[in-house]
Amino acid sequence: MLRKLNGIVIKNIKFSESDRILTVFTKERGKVSILAKKANSPKRKIITQTAMFVWSEFMCYPGKNMYTLRSADYIKGFYKIENDLERLMYASYIAELIDIFYDEELGETITFNLLAFTLKLIEDEKIENLSYITLAFMLKLLGICGFLPSMENCIVCNEKKSDIYYLDRVNGGIICGNCKSRDSYLKQLNDVQLKLLKELIHIKLKDLRDKDFLSVPKKSGEYLITVFDDYIVYTLGRKTNTYKLLCQMIGF
Ligand SMILES: [Zn+2]
Repeated sequence: MLRKLNGIVIKNIKFSESDRILTVFTKERGKVSILAKKANSPKRKIITQTAMFVWSEFMCYPGKNMYTLRSADYIKGFYKIENDLERLMYASYIAELIDIFYDEELGETITFNLLAFTLKLIEDEKIENLSYITLAFMLKLLGICGFLPSMENCIVCNEKKSDIYYLDRVNGGIICGNCKSRDSYLKQLNDVQLKLLKELIHIKLKDLRDKDFLSVPKKSGEYLITVFDDYIVYTLGRKTNTYKLLCQMIGF
């Protein structure tokens, strides 16, 4: 039976000379794989609709391991992303994060909305803010999936006031300087960084538009991406390929 799926292309890989496999994060069924036969043939008129970061309505037939595409209607693209290497790298990282967080046929509409809105921000906002937007995305994705570490008090002694905290990826929370043991693997967080994290956890995505992060050094946003990438790799046991490239490009 033909099925209508509304989604954003987060991966597009070559399957054979003329066919491609799309990974699409959909509103209806979360992450799905779709075989697009003769995807690059102009006759099929699906080149634009199946490109990376394009939001389309896909008409497909369910199969054993994946769907097969019949036709696709273009809904929306985020074209400025492709024209700027920095925007492209952040967007690629976000798309790959979604891919490693979800198995096939898993995912919620709220994640779809998070993805669509974040891509819009990555497309429109000033370059200096992309690291904060990406960080907000990571925290919200962790929150949706129930993996957000506890960041209110030290998870050992419950202390709220400390000059320095550490993110304990094993126990999923922050610990204060007094409770830090010497041999544990911990990433340091200062006051400003912790405040930023708490703000980004609660912020509405639309409030990230034209937001000023003047009180936070730019390096902090980038550093926190490395902290939370490490946390995600540890928690999921999966990593993205894009992260290294992103680090090389941004220089963190
Ligand atoms: Zn403590």
